[in-house]
Amino acid sequence: MTARILDGKSIALTIRQEIALDVALLVQKTGVLPCLAAVLVGEDPASQVYVRNKEIACEKAGIQSQLFRMPASTTTAELLALIEQLNHDSKIHGILVQLPLPTQINERQVLDAVLPAKDVDAFAPENVGLISQGRPRFLPCTPHGVMQLLGRCQIETAGKEVVVVGRSDIVGKPLVSMFLQRSGPLGPSNANATVTCCHSQSQNLAEITRRADILVVAIGKAHFITADMVRPGAVVIDVGINRLGDRIVGDVDFESVSNIASAITPVPGGIGPLTIAMLLKNTLMAATALSR
Ligand code: NDP
Repeated sequence: MTARILDGKSIALTIRQEIALDVALLVQKTGVLPCLAAVLVGEDPASQVYVRNKEIACEKAGIQSQLFRMPASTTTAELLALIEQLNHDSKIHGILVQLPLPTQINERQVLDAVLPAKDVDAFAPENVGLISQGRPRFLPCTPHGVMQLLGRCQIETAGKEVVVVGRSDIVGKPLVSMFLQRSGPLGPSNANATVTCCHSQSQNLAEITRRADILVVAIGKAHFITADMVRPGAVVIDVGINRLGDRIVGDVDFESVSNIASAITPVPGGIGPLTIAMLLKNTLMAATALSR
C-alpha cells in the first residue's frame, strides 16, 4: 500500500471538540442549550445504531438530544403530526428524520414538512436551493464531511478534475453542487472544481473515473471501484457503507486502489464519523440562529 490514509475519525474528533467549545460559548452567552430531535420509525437495526451514535455524539458535544420512536405501522399523517409538533417546539432546534422510512410513509412529504430553519439534514427544497445558489443555510452532512476532510487534509479542489459516482439527493447531487461553487466551507481552494457526475446509466464509467484527480464514490456497492478505474496518484474518497458478512466495507476495493491512489479514505473510519460531526455543527448553527 502506498496511499496516504485520510483519517476521518481523528479529523471528526477535532471538529467535535471545536463544536463542543462553541456550544459551551452559546450556552454561556444566551442560555440556549442546542437540542436535536431524532425521529426513528420502526425497528431497522442499522437505523437504531445510527441514531444511537448520533445521540452519543450530541451528548459528548454538550448538545441535548431527544429521541422520538414510532412504530413501524406509523402512517404519513401520524408522522406529519409529530413533525408539526417539533416544528413549533421552541426548545427543539434541529429535526432529524432517520431514513429509510417504512414504505407506507410518503418520505418526500415528511421531509418537506420539516421547518427549513430546523432542517439540519439540509433536505428541504428551500435549503437545497440555497446550497445550489452558493448561500447555504445548512450544508448536508455527508457532502460537508467530504469537503471538510479534503480541506483539513490540505487537498485543494480548485481547478481539479473531480468525478462523483452516484447522484442521490443525499450525497451525490449536493456534493456536485458544493464542488462547483466559487467558495467552499473552507474557502475558494475548497471548491472551484471541474465536476463530472456518473450514475447507473453512465457509459464507459472506468474511462470517466480514470480522468479524476479526486474521485468520490457513493453508490452502495461493495468493492465496486477497482484499481483499473483509478488514475495513478488520484485522491479517492469512499462514501459507501456496505455490510459484507460481519464486516463493513466501502464502495472502493481498498486493497487494490490503495496501491495506486495517492490518498484514500478507509471504511469504516473515513466519511462516516465526519457525517455525524457535521450534523452536530448544523444543530449548533440552528440553535444559534433560532436564539437570535
Ligand atoms: P442511493 O442508493 O440513493 O444512490 C446510489 C447512486 O449510485 C445512484 O445515483 C445510482 O445511480 C448510483 N449507482 C448505482 N449503481 C451504479 C453503478 N453500477 N455505476 C454507477 N452508478 C451507480 O445511495 P446513497 O447516495 O444514499 O448512498 C450511497 C452509499 O453511501 C451507500 O453505501 C450508503 O450507505 C453510503 N452512505 C454513507 C454515508 C456516510 O456517512 N458515510 C451517508 C450516506 C450514505 P442511479 O441514480 O442511476 O440509480
